[in-house]
Amino acid sequence: MKKFETIKEKEVIKNYKKFEYVICELCNKQFDDEEFNEEIYDFNESEVKCRIGQSYPSDSFGDIYEIDICPKCFVEKLIPWVESQGGKAKVTNF
Ligand SMILES: [Zn+2]
Repeated sequence: MKKFETIKEKEVIKNYKKFEYVICELCNKQFDDEEFNEEIYDFNESEVKCRIGQSYPSDSFGDIYEIDICPKCFVEKLIPWVESQGGKAKVTNF
């Protein structure tokens, strides 16, 4: 569940949503997957997304399923569940 703060500008009649943080669907803890700090070189990202639909040269349509899950739950809950179903997580270095 992504939470957004509504920003109201005084002179311009326009509201927009500024990304604040993400709440993990499994542990309900807040995590910021877009934070960047020049002094901190660690980062943790996770993404679970599925797109199902049709794609044509002129147009495409369908549904996007997305689960906001923190990196800790990804490693400690999702991967063990996938492996319990007979799957295997692929781990690569970057
Ligand atoms: Zn979590």
